[in-house]
Amino acid sequence: MAKSRRELGVALSNQLLSVDFLPDFWYIFVEIFLLITTSMIDCTFCSIARGESSAEILYQNEHAVAILDINPIHCGHVLVLPRQHAETFLEVPETELGGLIRATQIVSRAVVNSLNPPGFNIFSNNGKAAGQSVFHFHFHITPRYADDNIRFILQLKKYSGDEMAAYAERIRQKINSDHIHTKP
Ligand SMILES: [Zn+2]
Repeated sequence: MAKSRRELGVALSNQLLSVDFLPDFWYIFVEIFLLITTSMIDCTFCSIARGESSAEILYQNEHAVAILDINPIHCGHVLVLPRQHAETFLEVPETELGGLIRATQIVSRAVVNSLNPPGFNIFSNNGKAAGQSVFHFHFHITPRYADDNIRFILQLKKYSGDEMAAYAERIRQKINSDHIHTKP
């Protein structure tokens, strides 16, 4: 796959510029471009957002699309995805967040008011270790019912000594260094 992509990159570079030789670094840019574009072309959710793959679309706005999950936890289980390809929550552009969250609230309210479940979950899996299976970020909204026996198997831990303060400090320092100019 990597080899064929490289060959494609070399061929494309040569064709675009009509020269037989290009410095090595040029191919790297073309390879990165192809890697990004091929992953977007292959992405099921990008295809749904473009209207090229079928899905049971419930709602869409400029930034997000909400569809029914084809393998629901409960009937009425919804996925809300940004139109722009982003692998995890961390890559979702700030400009898309408002529309994405608005769509999530609109659809959550509709799920609750139409199906009348006594509760609902909103969650997202980010990374393979967290159970992500489609690598285009999405929120899940699922109805929940009393005694439906769906739960994480949790073994809750306890912080010892100063550990809690140390964890808080590590995270706070990162927030302060990354967002020093946007602090209130
Ligand atoms: Zn995608």
